[in-house]
Amino acid sequence: MHVASVTRRYHFAAAHRLHTEHLSEEENWKVFGKCNNPNGHGHNYTLFVTVRGGIDAQTGRAVAFDTLDRTVQQTVLDRFDHQDLNHDPAFADRTTTGENLVLLIWDLLLAQLPPGQLEKIGLIETRDNYFEYAGPAAQSAAVGRTGG
Ligand SMILES: [Zn+2]
Repeated sequence: MHVASVTRRYHFAAAHRLHTEHLSEEENWKVFGKCNNPNGHGHNYTLFVTVRGGIDAQTGRAVAFDTLDRTVQQTVLDRFDHQDLNHDPAFADRTTTGENLVLLIWDLLLAQLPPGQLEKIGLIETRDNYFEYAGPAAQSAAVGRTGG
């Protein structure tokens, strides 16, 4: 059976502020720039979820789109859309950077999708910022804490 990769695109809007108490005010600004704005701000995130599967001889499909869509909706979009990411329990002890976000989304979906199906997570944060993660699982305690 031939294996193909399929990427689906999703959208969510969320607010955040990039700031860590491990750094001084000046250092925070230097590292995070405008995303350190004390008032916070929002992004319209574009999420790419790439999964793989064997191409079914009869349907020609490698992945059930409706199942994937439902999983992403319930696991990721319902959790983050129109929320302040800084208030999500998974970000209690880490910054809401695109890097940490793709890591978290990877772990959340890995726990819900069939074994071996998830291939890559891509996330557009701004016109010029794109983040990617393709495992291994970060196995963050936060995923377990929030029940996935
Ligand atoms: Zn930002």
